[in-house]
Amino acid sequence: MLRTPKGLRLQIGFFGKRNAGKSSLFNAFTHQEVSIVSPVPGTTADPVEKAMELHCLGPVLLIDTAGLDDDALLIGDLRQEKSRKIMDRVDMAFVVAEADKWGNFEYSITEELMRRKVAVIAVLNKCDICTVAESLKEDLTEKKIPFVCTDTVTGKGMDLLRSLLVKHAPGEFFSSVRMVGDIIEEGDTVLLVTPIDIEAPKGRLIMPQVQAIRDILDKNCCVIAVKTDMVEKTLANLKTPPALVITDSQVFREVAPLVPVQIPLTSFSILMARMKGDLSLCAAGAARLLKKTPLKKVLIAEACTHHPLQEDIGRVKIPNAIRKMRNRIGNGELPEADIVFSHVQGHDYPDDLSGYDLVIHCGACSFNTGEMRARILKAAEAKVPFSNYGIVLGCCAGILERSLSPFPEALASFRNEMGKKSE
Ligand code: SF4
Repeated sequence: MLRTPKGLRLQIGFFGKRNAGKSSLFNAFTHQEVSIVSPVPGTTADPVEKAMELHCLGPVLLIDTAGLDDDALLIGDLRQEKSRKIMDRVDMAFVVAEADKWGNFEYSITEELMRRKVAVIAVLNKCDICTVAESLKEDLTEKKIPFVCTDTVTGKGMDLLRSLLVKHAPGEFFSSVRMVGDIIEEGDTVLLVTPIDIEAPKGRLIMPQVQAIRDILDKNCCVIAVKTDMVEKTLANLKTPPALVITDSQVFREVAPLVPVQIPLTSFSILMARMKGDLSLCAAGAARLLKKTPLKKVLIAEACTHHPLQEDIGRVKIPNAIRKMRNRIGNGELPEADIVFSHVQGHDYPDDLSGYDLVIHCGACSFNTGEMRARILKAAEAKVPFSNYGIVLGCCAGILERSLSPFPEALASFRNEMGKKSE
């Protein structure tokens, strides 16, 4: 169970002021002394994570955070910033306050979380020593914020807290969103193209490839994995053509001519965009690359934190492919006005995206959907188009419509953005 990657866990954050009892609640909830608890305000400095299995919910990741009112000299702002970054990652949140101290501060945190589409549960803590005003209960009920009164010493309220979690968990967490199983039929054959190059991790496949294999097997289908140079021979040897070919987007240009057009072709990254983000939005975002308006500043975001390699996809391949395509289609910026590509990795992501013309994100296999949702939302708020590695590489290789054809809604969204009629 503990091997479940973080990206597949429901992530739940504990937020509130210092000394609201977040860490005591965290420990009572996990039945372990994971977070250090003391009467000294600001004891939790860095976020504390605990992976566990919750009945009816499955694998979750609980994250305790520093107080959002931390004003400790010099480092208080840094701690607050770290806690706010966790707001961008979680799917659900407990906003914790002493039962008689819940007020405007907690409502503003709740609003901030709800704006990120995070499901919030108000925890009125220390109810063994504080009284909960009836007017507060009425106000929370009126605002449709589920709440629970807790006492971490006796464990009062913990069962209700767990059942509220199950009740308000995002629907997609239970619907077990499939990576590919919903677009193939039982008994189909699926061909995977997985180049083993300098970027491939030693001795293993990357997570999107592993997840695709598992999902195809779950669907009782046959999966064949080959390197790029075996595609042609494998297709020739198959008596029945594969129902689908999934390739690494980096070799779209090499693989597309080898696969007959009647065989649907897509990429791992496009499948991840559908699973973790919003494929239609990412498809529409790619249209920005084809528009006549100058493209000046592009943000490339990668969830991996690997050391950049010589032929790095985000730092080298995508910028080169975009520059080449923009020159080819005649939208080309003057050489002296070269497009500026900025890069972020891991959980780093700018709060303010205004100033960028486009955000291009990797498939984010290591992120949960909550973190991707928050990133997409930030781009939408700044009115910056958002796209994905596979979609952009498909676009640069001139096969975007083909690679989106297994997903009619996303294809229509791209065509619509391009001002084309859907077929
Ligand atoms: S986190 Fe992104 S770059 Fe890293 S393996 Fe997953 S999809 Fe690829």
